[in-house]
Amino acid sequence: MNIPQILYLKSAWDEMQRIVGESGNVETGGLLLGKVCRSETGRSFIITQVTGPGPNAVLSENSFLPDMEYYRKARVEHPHLVYLGEWHKHPGCHKGYSHQDFYQVQKILDQENRQEFLCCICSIGQEKTIEMQCFYLNQELNQFLSLSYSMLMELQDQRIRSIFVEDKVLEKFLASQKPYSKVQADVREGIAHLFYHPYSSNQSVLLANVSLCPEISLDGERSLVLLVNKKKGSPVEIRCYHCLEDQTCEIESQILSLRKDIFRRNRSLMETTRLRGKHIVFLGLGSIGSNAALELTRAGVDRFTLIDPDTVQIENICRHACDLTELGMKKVDAVAQRIRRIMPYSQIHCHAIDANENPDKTLAMCQDADLIFVSTDTENSRRLANWIGHEAKIPIIYAGLLERAAGGRVWRIIPGKTACYDCYPSHKNTETKGPIAYSEISSLDDLSIQPGLGNDIAFVTHLAVRFALDTIKGRQDLSYHIVFWFNRRYRGMKNIHPLTLYRVEELPQHTDCPVCISQERRKA
Ligand SMILES: [Zn+2]
Ligand SMILES: [Zn+2]
Repeated sequence: MNIPQILYLKSAWDEMQRIVGESGNVETGGLLLGKVCRSETGRSFIITQVTGPGPNAVLSENSFLPDMEYYRKARVEHPHLVYLGEWHKHPGCHKGYSHQDFYQVQKILDQENRQEFLCCICSIGQEKTIEMQCFYLNQELNQFLSLSYSMLMELQDQRIRSIFVEDKVLEKFLASQKPYSKVQADVREGIAHLFYHPYSSNQSVLLANVSLCPEISLDGERSLVLLVNKKKGSPVEIRCYHCLEDQTCEIESQILSLRKDIFRRNRSLMETTRLRGKHIVFLGLGSIGSNAALELTRAGVDRFTLIDPDTVQIENICRHACDLTELGMKKVDAVAQRIRRIMPYSQIHCHAIDANENPDKTLAMCQDADLIFVSTDTENSRRLANWIGHEAKIPIIYAGLLERAAGGRVWRIIPGKTACYDCYPSHKNTETKGPIAYSEISSLDDLSIQPGLGNDIAFVTHLAVRFALDTIKGRQDLSYHIVFWFNRRYRGMKNIHPLTLYRVEELPQHTDCPVCISQERRKA
């Protein structure tokens, strides 16, 4: 059993101080009531209410016998609060617990068959201040555990404002013809209880329904009751209630059809359905790759293979799609998680490996892909992608920033149609036409991919995403395959104006290129 964190609600704390302050020289005490909350970080006891000893308690300087009838009533009067433990004041400045205290708590655990119990002891400090210590005991411990505690100024409002229900959850429920079903709600880790009921707005109907199913305990803050109604020939209707510990309130509810509704605004701009089932392999999930993966998800691509050996580091945060909540995670897992937050039905294969370690294995991962999106930072992996693209006949998009983030480049390679990455291993004095000649750039080696500002990265990413989408949809009117963008004057390139796009109209295959030659041979 994990040890809870102790939180005192300020108002409960003040009440205890008041009782102690008014008790004079005699002992006193009372009940600790509140709630047990569970979160990702563990459990906490929140003490929301403390009682005094009761009118018939017997208080003396060295002992205190509580009014048990008063205790019983206090617990009955607050059925929604959990009996967490008891508190009492020790006379003078006697700190710590006595043997009697330990014996008492053990007795309570045994007699009431409780799992755990909190015993808080107040004493008056030298400056007449009231000090308190928290001692915790459960069935596994054989002595008190001293716990620190903190103050909670006010209780957070736990009410859920609205709920979104996916249509297929309802369809499945209705098809089952069961009167009741319990479903896990994804996003807020809640539980929703589905009831088939031709509802009325009368809440007693709802409550009657709940009590008809005694096996259901609507425990915890996040229990929802959903009444589902389906009349013949009309759409499914739902009503949702949030069952708080002391009241039940109706909340807004909306039925969603995830696939349709997520891409609703893309309609007519982008035929999302044509992208469904398209498979993109990502080599590298740095700032460009991670953001491109999410953009392509938003466009409607729903199959991904993610390859990157790295983890999310603190220096990635200012540019990467991931944030501090994913620090230390494998980039493939963090990005997959983000993709699923946009489109839960995406098929994603994650490989936290170096693609170059086993080229054949990497090739196998790409076999049925529609596109390889490359944004790695090593020449080896870019050449590997080129080889794979030509082996498996898959278009490749290279996206990267130029040295010192002077701008960016998006390069599309269509095997058998365009020049390939290996055609330009270094500067070749190629005559090209078009707005800029590739030869104007002194050397491809200079164009090593470098980090830049998030803003520059985003620009290049979006350009590459557009290229990727047009490529997998088979757009025919793109005659060029390289687009440059510079954010400042680039050395030696006099006709280039910053913040303008430049396309390379023609980029011929190189006659000595080993990759292109082997392609030709295979064709012949
Ligand atoms: Zn005591
Ligand atoms: Zn080539």
